[in-house]
Amino acid sequence: RDGLSKTRKQINETAGFLGNDVRDVFTNRLETIEDLEYALIAADVGRAATEEILEDVRSSEGKNLQQALMDALVLQLEPDARRAEFRKLGFAPDVSRSRIDPKGHVVMVIGVNGVGKTTTIAKLGQYYMTRGKSVMFAAGDTFRAAAGAQLGVWGDRLGIPVVQGIDGGDPAAVAFDGASARAARGTDLLFVDTAGRLHNKHNLMEELKKVRRVIDKADPGEPAEVWLVLDAVTGQNGLQQAKKFHEATPLTGVIVTKLDGTAKGGILIPIVRELGVPIKFIGVGEQAGDLQPFDSQEFVRALFD
Ligand code: GDP
Repeated sequence: RDGLSKTRKQINETAGFLGNDVRDVFTNRLETIEDLEYALIAADVGRAATEEILEDVRSSEGKNLQQALMDALVLQLEPDARRAEFRKLGFAPDVSRSRIDPKGHVVMVIGVNGVGKTTTIAKLGQYYMTRGKSVMFAAGDTFRAAAGAQLGVWGDRLGIPVVQGIDGGDPAAVAFDGASARAARGTDLLFVDTAGRLHNKHNLMEELKKVRRVIDKADPGEPAEVWLVLDAVTGQNGLQQAKKFHEATPLTGVIVTKLDGTAKGGILIPIVRELGVPIKFIGVGEQAGDLQPFDSQEFVRALFD
């Protein structure tokens, strides 16, 4: 797969998903299950996930230990319902590839300012365009100064049409125009940028709900997907944000950015666990091509390369 070796190298070298401790534990010095427990907790995998992982490792007789841990980690990176299902089967099947594409035509992209939302929309545009889909953007972040202009620049560069609003204008109006235009033109995919912060008197969560309603009205059929962009660097704070967004506008996917620049890749496990939402893509740089579909098995394998 294109770019995979780069991701593997980046994840392996810089994300430090579980930190060197676990790798060492694995490669040479696993003395006891307590060593493993300590390493998992230290890696921010979280208490509940750690207990399940240990249980899975303990009960996987006949497997070598590294394989048992890899399987257990893959299970943790699958959303809840599937995890229960797979644990019963006693193995981690290859499921992640099939759930990357949006079900319908519209994806609302949400997240707080600075996480990489606008850049991620550009990356998604390139990703799907190079796979033969027609793509449009709607610049629905009318509150961050120049967010629309930024998306406009990406659109020009990638050859993707951008529906623009007025700075400070109504985000829902831009979303409505975008969704209507998408339906009229029969474009395959529309990515809607949204505000990450509003001026004080507005409530961000209420605004996002409204945007969601408006999109589904303008473009009936399969409801819009809602993908949350999270910055891996923010760790546990990001997780708290994610829960708030999830309550307001139920998420259908998560994209974790900046895995190239952080040692906090461990946050992926609590994200999947607490939200029960699949990770769709990971961001590994600032360029349009620096987006990788998330594949739990590849990801975990990369940790032990
Ligand atoms: P927004 O406010 O959420 O729309 O954030 P932007 O898209 O403007 O991104 C904020 C900054 O993060 C920019 O400098 C981006 O280039 C950078 N950025 C976005 N995604 C990534 C990533 O995956 N890796 C790195 N290193 N930087 C990123």
